[in-house]
Amino acid sequence: MIPRLHFAHLPTPVEPMPRLAAELGGRVRLLVKRDDQTGLALGGNKTRKLEFLMAEAQANGAKMLISAGAGQSNHCRQVAAAAAHFGMDCILVLRGNPPEERNANLLLDDLLGAHVVWTGDANLQETLKATYALAQKNGQRPYLIPYGGSNATGALGYAFAFDELCAQGYQPDWIVMASSSGGTQAGLSLAARRAGFRGHVLGISIDHSVADLQKTVAALASDASERLGERIEFLPADIEVNDAFTGGGYGVMGALEVEAIRIFARTEGLLLDPVYTGRAAGGMLTLIRDGFFSRGSEVLFWHTGGTPGLFAEPYAKMLAG
Ligand SMILES: *Cc1c(COP(=O)(O)O)cnc(C)c1O
Repeated sequence: MIPRLHFAHLPTPVEPMPRLAAELGGRVRLLVKRDDQTGLALGGNKTRKLEFLMAEAQANGAKMLISAGAGQSNHCRQVAAAAAHFGMDCILVLRGNPPEERNANLLLDDLLGAHVVWTGDANLQETLKATYALAQKNGQRPYLIPYGGSNATGALGYAFAFDELCAQGYQPDWIVMASSSGGTQAGLSLAARRAGFRGHVLGISIDHSVADLQKTVAALASDASERLGERIEFLPADIEVNDAFTGGGYGVMGALEVEAIRIFARTEGLLLDPVYTGRAAGGMLTLIRDGFFSRGSEVLFWHTGGTPGLFAEPYAKMLAG
C-alpha cells in the first residue's frame, strides 16, 4: 500500500465541451477533466500530489510544512490549506518582494494561516534552505514540500488520476495539460504507459524548453514508477511536450491567454487562469485551428486549476478590458 491521505474531492467530473468544439468548427470532440474542483481551498492539481506528500509528512512526524514558489503560487496556497487542514504550521518562501495588495492567492495564503517569507533579491533555493534549517534548529519539525509538489511522491497523485479517468470510462485520443514543474505530466505519462494507453499525453510547456521539460518529466516518471512496484525507464523522447506557447515567460499573460480565458468562459461557463490553464488552453486552441489533431479525435483538456489567479494584478485589470 502506498501511503496516502484522502482529502481531495474525487473523482473530479469529466464534462463535454460541445459549444467550444462547435466554435472551433467541430473538428474535434472536446472534454474537460475538472481538477479545478479537487476541493482543497479552491482546488487545483496540487491537491492530488499533496494526498501522497502529506502522508509522507505525517509518517515523518512533521509538525510544519515548508514550500516555495512564485508570489501568486497556486501550489503554495494549497500547501497552506493542507497544513491548516491537518493542524500543522506552514512557511511559504515566495519569490520577490511583497506587493502592495495582498490579493488572490496571497490573500488566501494569509487567511489559511501561512507565514510568508519573501526572498527579495536573494536566491529562492538559498532562502528556502536557510528557512528550513532555521525551522529544524528551532525544533519545529519541518517537512519540505518540493517546488510544485513535483517529486516521485507527488507525481503519484497523477498516476492515480489517470487510473481514475480510465475508471470513469474515458480513453481520449489526446490528453492536453499545462506542464511546468512536471509532476502532473509525469504521473499521467507513467500510468498511461502502465495501462497500455494508445492516446497521447501532451504537455503544453508554461516556462521550459521542450528538451528541459522532457528531461524533467522523464526523470520524475521513472522515479515514480519504482513506487508502483518496478522501475520503468522513461526517455526524454517518450514525453510529448510543446513549447511554442511560452510567450513572454512565466506569469506574463498575453493575447493567447486572454482569448482562451474569454472563449472558455463564454462558450462553456468554465474559468481558466492567467498563468497555466489559460496558456495551455490557448495552445490547445491554436493546435486545433492548425489541424494538429486529426479530424474527429477526442481531445481531453485536463484543467489543473489556478482560477484564483484571475483576481491577481495585473491580470484582473487586463481582463476587465
Ligand atoms: C502547478 C500548476 C500546473 C503545473 O503542474 P506541474 O505538475 O507543476 O507541471 C498547472 N496548472 C496550475 C493551475 C498549476 O498551479
